Amino acid sequence: MTTYKIAVIAGDGIGKEVMAEALRVMEVLQQYDADFKLQLEEFPWSSDYYLEHGEIMPKDGLDQLKKFDAILFGAIGDARVPDEVTIWELIMPIRKQFKQYVNFRPVKSLKGIGSPLKNGKDIDFVIFRENAEGEYSNSGGRMFEGQADEMAVQNTIMTRKGIENITRAAAQYAVAHGKQKVTSATKSNAVIHTLKLWDEHVKQVLAEEFPDLQLESNYIDALVAYFVERPQSFEVVVASNLFGDILSDLGSSLVGGLGLSPSANINPEKDYPSMFEPVHGSAPDIAGRGIANPIAQIWSAALMLSHLGRPDLAEKIVLAIEHVLLDGEVRTKDIGGSASTTEMGDAIIEKINAQM
Ligand code: ATP
Ligand code: MG
Repeated sequence: MTTYKIAVIAGDGIGKEVMAEALRVMEVLQQYDADFKLQLEEFPWSSDYYLEHGEIMPKDGLDQLKKFDAILFGAIGDARVPDEVTIWELIMPIRKQFKQYVNFRPVKSLKGIGSPLKNGKDIDFVIFRENAEGEYSNSGGRMFEGQADEMAVQNTIMTRKGIENITRAAAQYAVAHGKQKVTSATKSNAVIHTLKLWDEHVKQVLAEEFPDLQLESNYIDALVAYFVERPQSFEVVVASNLFGDILSDLGSSLVGGLGLSPSANINPEKDYPSMFEPVHGSAPDIAGRGIANPIAQIWSAALMLSHLGRPDLAEKIVLAIEHVLLDGEVRTKDIGGSASTTEMGDAIIEKINAQM
């Protein structure tokens, strides 16, 4: 029997509500497979925890997490706690320390869910967002505060290794999944230092290591338009931290919105745990009402199972989600229904049971 140790951080707001459903789904899967066991440990790190303890996680928090096979994360964010704390003292340290330099986001139409696009053809591509460096740096500063010539400098840091790593991860995925093309997001005509380096090394890795893959390189302004005009033409998109963030929210809205969008923060070397979380945040506007859509969280758990070497179980989850949406009877408010978070969890579990 294989036992996987999973750290569970439900976090704030709807994070707690949708996590409960993901945990129920995984519980059910274990009942059907004697070979598959999850050892879950829940961590209360959240904004409430911060308000009580003065820190969002204990000093040895990362050491505690290190020994797990994966981290399942809900969402974090609360009006009473500055983003500098939730982002820079919890999420970023986990991503950086555990070398989760790949942020992986599938953009896949689901049967039964409409798209805001007039062209209703199926969309199915993935985004590889660089997750450890780039525009999201705390390097920089402010000068002349409060004066008329006040200014700020924000440094973008890109390294050859960082660019090679994310490109390689995207290309390996492309090859493993029979894809032909990798699309790179750039703007090297205007951002001439970092993004020229980006262009050079994306090109070099593909040419030297993946000569069979085709490279399409687009300026980000054009690329967002192509996402809307011809989303079916993409297979694997590779982008920097900021561009990838924007593209994945756009991608998410093309296929039904935040309630349906999972993501994975992956450490491809597997020397530290990877982390799986919905794209959405804590959604304070609907928190506490039991109406959040748990699909993004449940699908994130599926990505985790896939990463842990059980793509068969991941497949069962995604199929169950597709069946529920196709039936159309159980829908949460964000996708045009009135079902509760728990009712959606029940419906997905029912479809998993039906497959076993
Ligand atoms: P955070 O600061 O934690 O990111 P946020 O205010 O940015 O929180 P998000 O969670 O990013 O909110 O979501 C944006 C909007 O999308 C919310 O107002 C919410 O109504 C909706 N939303 C997000 N996730 C879901 C979900 N799982 N189910 C239903 N609606 C959702
Ligand atoms: Mg948000």
